[in-house]
Parts: sequence; structure tokens; C-alpha cells
Amino acid sequence: MVNEISTTDRWIKCISTEGHIRGVAIQATQLVQSLAERHQLQGEAICRLGEAVIGALLISCYCRQGHRINLNIRGSGLFQQALVDAYPAGDVRGYLIQREASLLTEDTLGPWGTGLLSVLRTRDEEGGKPYIGTVPLLTGHLAKDLSFYWAQSEQIPSAVGISVNLEGDRVTSAGGFLVQALPGASSDEVRAIEQHIYEIQSLAESLAQDANPMHLLSQIFQSTSFIVVEEKPIQFKCNCSWQRVYRALSLVGAEELSSMLAEDQVALVRCDFCVQEYPVDQPTLEKLLQEVQSQQS
Ligand SMILES: [Zn+2]
Repeated sequence: MVNEISTTDRWIKCISTEGHIRGVAIQATQLVQSLAERHQLQGEAICRLGEAVIGALLISCYCRQGHRINLNIRGSGLFQQALVDAYPAGDVRGYLIQREASLLTEDTLGPWGTGLLSVLRTRDEEGGKPYIGTVPLLTGHLAKDLSFYWAQSEQIPSAVGISVNLEGDRVTSAGGFLVQALPGASSDEVRAIEQHIYEIQSLAESLAQDANPMHLLSQIFQSTSFIVVEEKPIQFKCNCSWQRVYRALSLVGAEELSSMLAEDQVALVRCDFCVQEYPVDQPTLEKLLQEVQSQQS
């Protein structure tokens, strides 16, 4: 029987029946392919944005509803920055900034090089206090540096694996996992899981053959029995809108608006997350300028 959901991007969260080890596995093949097409990425860029998006989803899936995660990676490698917003509902958006090849410094580390990894947690409604956790990029490999983030910033012993496989510029498989030891976990329980993760010799290979998150969890937990606590589809979603663009423009100041008016007559505001363009015509710019000037006077 063909199980339709097995080809669908989603995460599956589980917990050991003893309640001491939790895990989540993500399948994101179609999501990463769609992001590659949207941002017209090729080769390594697809892998870097793909892993950043999967990493952000691994963080967001354990957040409370109504919260938002912003993962910000600033590295010294070919890609100087990745910015990803992810939500516990499974929505995600992100983009990548590439460095001029001439500005590239020699690096012996992983693909991200050295730099910083920050996770900002905010409530989407007003009033919530944002929380930011920042760790250095120690290895330049996102999965390894994320496990350091959980250990350092949230004091949760964690193992992370992320992999994006390509054939040319086509994504053949993309996914990842996060396994965490909860308070009360015995060293034997932790060791058993660590051993199984170690035995998944190549996550990339394993995912290339079978991106099904349920199979990945079974490989990790093996004889440790677990129950599935959540299965949720994941998808690209950008919440940009004309209203948000208008609000952002109203914050740029009278001087900037005047020069935009003088230069082009028509401004084009582009959303970095989804590449949607919002044309701002002359009457709108004039109206904005009037509003900004009246607020200042
Ligand atoms: Zn957008």
C-alpha cells in the first residue's frame, strides 16, 4: 500500500516511553527545492539555505504556539548570512546572503566558517519579551554548532543531524533530526541513543535512500520504545503584505522619502524572504512624505 503522507514534508516528534529522551525528525525535500527555485539558488547555496531552514524548524517545533524563532547565522564562508523565521505551526521562510568571492578569507573550518549563530525568540503578539541566545560558530558545520547552541544556551544535551542532497541543482532529499536528553535521563539511556546516532554512519546517505522521518526516528531509537506525540506538515509561508511595506516605509524618514521621490518617481520594495516586489507609486510616496512630515511638526 502506498502511504501518501510518506512523500509529504513534515516533522514527527516523539518521546521515549520512559519520558527521558525526546526526538524530532524532519523531511523537507520539497520545501528546500521550492526555496531553491524561489531564490534561484544553485549548488552549495541550496545546501546552506536548506540546512538553515531545517535547523530553524528543529528549534521552532519545541516552541509554544504564538512564538516565532529567528535563526541568524553570520559566517566567514562563501555565505555571509542566513536569516530564517520559523513558527511552531510549521511555517518557515528564509534567505541567504552570499559574500563576494574576492572578500573570502582562507578558512579551514566547515562551510559556514567562523562567526556567530543567534536564535531570537519572540511572541508574535505585542508585549512579549524577546529572548536571544548567541553562540560562536565553533566548527562551521551547522548541525554541530546547533548541538552546541542547545547545550550552551538552553542546557539541554542534544544531538543534531541535518542533510541536503542534490543531483545537479535538484534536491533529491533534505531532512534532519534533533534528539535531546531530558532531566532524569540515565547515562545508559543517553549512551544507547548516542550509539545509534553514531551507527547512522552517514545521515546524508540514510536520507538519500529514505527521507521518511518515521524511519529516521526508528533508526535512532531502535530498542528504546517511543511514542509519537506530533506529526505536522511544514511549509513555506511569508507574512509580508502591502500594509507591512507601507509601515516600514513610514519609518525611513522624510529625507529618504524626498530623495526617493526625486529620483525614481516609483519605488520598488522587495521582500527578501519571498522575493515579492511591491511597487510604490508617486502619489503613495507623496502621501507617506506628508504623513511623516506632519508627525515631525
Ligand atoms: Zn515576503
